[in-house]
Amino acid sequence: MVPAIEAALRPGCSQIGAILPTPSHFHDFKLHAGCLRDLRSLPGSFTIPRIMSQADLRCDGCGQIASSEHIARRLQRLEWSTRYRPVHIGTLLLGAVAPLDDCDFIYSPAGAWEGEAKLLLAVAGVTTAGKAAEATLSEFQRGGFFLTYVLECPSEGAAEDNVQQLLGSRLPAVMARIRRSLKPKRLVPVSQALERFLPALNSGDLPCAILLDQGKPFVVEVDTAAESTSRLREALTSQSASARQGSGAGF
Ligand SMILES: [Zn+2]
Repeated sequence: MVPAIEAALRPGCSQIGAILPTPSHFHDFKLHAGCLRDLRSLPGSFTIPRIMSQADLRCDGCGQIASSEHIARRLQRLEWSTRYRPVHIGTLLLGAVAPLDDCDFIYSPAGAWEGEAKLLLAVAGVTTAGKAAEATLSEFQRGGFFLTYVLECPSEGAAEDNVQQLLGSRLPAVMARIRRSLKPKRLVPVSQALERFLPALNSGDLPCAILLDQGKPFVVEVDTAAESTSRLREALTSQSASARQGSGAGF
């Protein structure tokens, strides 16, 4: 950390130092604004570009400029997801961009899933009829499934080119998370938008099998992907059966 900045911080505030000079995780500056001493004491040649501007903060879940509402929503979804993360992940479903509506987000505690969430539950062999959302999500978790996204927040209207750029810039961090933290037995890309990143995902950096649909990501979308979705269901069913036969451990 830059000593001049360190000197400007109150003792006991370690977090704001962690974001300088390059943020690796998001920290809400507003929480730490009071931890800054008089920045006018910094050398005249030293500037802290935009440090206090909320508008320039980037979300650690997606890399987009983050408003406080964006961060609140990101943290909410993170909490929902973490609740149902298996201790040992058998199958990591990797999407490209998190859906905009909570009803399409599998970990939404409200249930009443639509679209992608509904399809992914079906792919995992989890039925929803007559069950509470909690029971459904627990079953998904017990099956060893976990869903995450390269961009863990909706794209907020970013142009397609920008989304591709965001995906590309987020990918190394996502791969590191898969390697160090999630550690799945198998990875299943479930978005066409990940096709151009398959060489990176397949480069051998990830210590898990990658399940593909004829060399491409599975496409789990309501309108276009009935066949791909059924192939994914078949592939997961057969993997589950062979895992049971091979080790008795299942997913
Ligand atoms: Zn975000």
